[in-house]
Amino acid sequence: MSILFKGGTVVSAKDRRQVDVRIDGEKIIEMGTNLKTKDSNIVDVSGCFLLPGFIDAHTHLELNNGKGSMGTADNFYTGSKAAVAKGTTTVIDMATPSKGSSLKDCLKVWDQLARGNSSCDYTYHMSIIEWNPSIKAEINEMIDAGITSFKMYMAYDNLRTTDGEIFEAMSEIRKFQGMLGIHCENGDMVNKMIAKFVAEGKRSPHYHPLTRPDSVEAEAVERYLMIADLVGLSVNIVHLSSKRSLEAVQRARARNQKVYVETCPQYLVLDDHLYDGPEFEGAKYVCSPPLRKISDQKALWDGVINGQVNTISTDHCSFNFEGQKTIGKDDFSKIPNGMPGVETRPELIYTYGVTTGKISLERMIGLLSEDIAKQFSMYPQKGIIQVGSDADIVVWDPNTTGIISATTQLQNVDYTPYDGMQTTGSAKSVYLRGQKIAEEGQVVLEKQGKFIFRKSTKNN
Ligand SMILES: [Zn+2]
Repeated sequence: MSILFKGGTVVSAKDRRQVDVRIDGEKIIEMGTNLKTKDSNIVDVSGCFLLPGFIDAHTHLELNNGKGSMGTADNFYTGSKAAVAKGTTTVIDMATPSKGSSLKDCLKVWDQLARGNSSCDYTYHMSIIEWNPSIKAEINEMIDAGITSFKMYMAYDNLRTTDGEIFEAMSEIRKFQGMLGIHCENGDMVNKMIAKFVAEGKRSPHYHPLTRPDSVEAEAVERYLMIADLVGLSVNIVHLSSKRSLEAVQRARARNQKVYVETCPQYLVLDDHLYDGPEFEGAKYVCSPPLRKISDQKALWDGVINGQVNTISTDHCSFNFEGQKTIGKDDFSKIPNGMPGVETRPELIYTYGVTTGKISLERMIGLLSEDIAKQFSMYPQKGIIQVGSDADIVVWDPNTTGIISATTQLQNVDYTPYDGMQTTGSAKSVYLRGQKIAEEGQVVLEKQGKFIFRKSTKNN
């Protein structure tokens, strides 16, 4: 039976309108003022916003590199439930092959992890961690399989490729109008800095950010964008964290390059003083790039406000504090890198962005949904409430308040970096392709997620 949402305000990246919305099956079928009931179930959403389901374009919901204790705390089942409970209805997860594995095999592995387990819709960025003729031949196959975006690394010895390999991969991706995102940090410099501090006996989490200063990121951003300029490829920068990196992006844009910038909530609401917490607390915030200075945070907010930053996703990659982060108790370089966040992004950005007046709700919709859908070839199936689109709808109550807590979160991890933070606004209920899957922060219907097939588009 169809459902008619009455009395709400529909918000897009462009505007807000007081209209009723009728959904039937998986789709939005009618919008307008004072729609007749017909045979629909009425859902009264007075006082609430109707928002398109949020999209998180950067998650590592499940990563198990075979070292047992180093597998992520969350998996697709728990991570996707945490996502949908607070309004994220689609994730683009980082499919990451092991060395020697084909992209096809990696895709199979990720399908096995997600299919039947995921409570949100999903697709993947395919990671390219080595470059050879057979990987090259698989780029086209990935596009044909609906995987139009790729990920590469300039840091992490087990994942990174050379500049020449990045150049060749870009050239191949360009042929098929694919999208590439890169983790920008100068891996050689990071290795040298880590070796230096460890040798000097400087091994607490305090030293983690000092091994990966903003120059290490900004140099890699600059180099990456120069390579992209040579190839003529529009590119994405994932988890951009610093003012100097944003300046490198501005230089590229000034020479007419198309560059997409993603940042993450942790760089907008946390800062590097957290590495100086008592005892080993700083380990909770060990991620790369690291948390930055207040001046970087301010530059990123300015970028969010003026459009230099295009999207906000989470880089969700959860490790327990006890038993996982503590592996690095005597050496920060052994602390697994990553933090949970897929659950908290909407409330954090609404609270710190919208209610503070920094950004409009429309801008938040662009950053968390519509512009992500457009960038990654899911629009208008996803990212907007309009006739014909998937009925992924978040009924957002702007008046609720809450406190983020490790004890009440759905993420399957023993801490949250945002513990104790007060929030305003939350998802009252969440619909995925027409089915109500969450209510008042709890999942009421699980494992309904499906793979979203994407087509590469020109002019990206
Ligand atoms: Zn990541």
